[in-house]
Amino acid sequence: MKFARLAGAGRIDVADVPEPVAGPGEVVVRLAACGVCGTDLEKLRGNYQSAGKIGHEPVGTIDSLGAGVGTLSVGERVWVHHHVPCYACAVCQRGDFTFCPTYSQSNIDPGGFAEKFRVPASHVERGAVQRLDPAVPWDVGTLLEPAACGLTAIRRVGLHPGDSVFVVGLGPVGILYARLARALGAGWVGGSDLSGRRREAAQHGGVEHAVDARDPEEAVRRVEASTRTLGADLVVVATGAPAAVALGTRLARRGGTLNLFGLPEAGSRLDVDLQQLYLRGTRVIPSYATTERDIADVQRLLVARRVDFSDLVTHRFPVGEAAEAFATAARPEDALKVVVTGPAY
Ligand SMILES: [Zn+2]
Ligand SMILES: [Zn+2]
Repeated sequence: MKFARLAGAGRIDVADVPEPVAGPGEVVVRLAACGVCGTDLEKLRGNYQSAGKIGHEPVGTIDSLGAGVGTLSVGERVWVHHHVPCYACAVCQRGDFTFCPTYSQSNIDPGGFAEKFRVPASHVERGAVQRLDPAVPWDVGTLLEPAACGLTAIRRVGLHPGDSVFVVGLGPVGILYARLARALGAGWVGGSDLSGRRREAAQHGGVEHAVDARDPEEAVRRVEASTRTLGADLVVVATGAPAAVALGTRLARRGGTLNLFGLPEAGSRLDVDLQQLYLRGTRVIPSYATTERDIADVQRLLVARRVDFSDLVTHRFPVGEAAEAFATAARPEDALKVVVTGPAY
């Protein structure tokens, strides 16, 4: 079968590898589609210190079941989460599941851009393979995980009814966050991005004002105008650029929240006036990744039609053309969300 993987600096190659086999408690999934995430692009650029595994937003059908798996059936449409917390350690007991020390060590094999992949028993046991609702098409299914990262963040920072929210960086995940915030009670939602295409897509749902990120002062003026000069209750930095975080500290109201949501480059530093941060009382809260519980909740919101993500996937490439998928995803004027498709699509 075909498997698209990182092959060193800046290169994706497609290998021909043996099909995975489901051991006891495990399942093998036939890929329908898997989104190309911003963190996948960072891994390709060599900016993300991790195992180098790419593809973590997969949906597909159950291809085979290992011994003892009674909750799923062959042929069933499913979404799969690539990491699971242990649900037992002190970090998990406090509800900080994605910061569980073993969370990011667990993964699917060989990755999400493979025609078939094996899901470990720990994932199956903890609910990381669940039925994809018939109302959710494959393309939208790939957005469950990135959207759930937004839901996890919203729950972590605490969104209050009527809150003003500003999203710095309106890539697919920024737009998903904005739409969820709106659905969950935000009052005004604004945002900024360099790409005109993304700004336009953002304004189709969720974001009232999307401003050009080339002029940061425009974001400041927009937030002041929309919040009666107060500043935003919640500023979401959905990009890893330190300049965007610094801008975010100016957009948040006194006592407001700055959510570090995008992945910063390893080794990047933040240059802000700490006394100002202190005196303004800005709560800086990072949020990383999500859990199968929040993914299931996003699916419920979709099925209940409280959110709509049907317009965000713009490009599809088969596993064999994964390199082209990555190149397209890296051109924000051309593409919103790019997915890699497999044999179950
Ligand atoms: Zn992702
Ligand atoms: Zn844990």
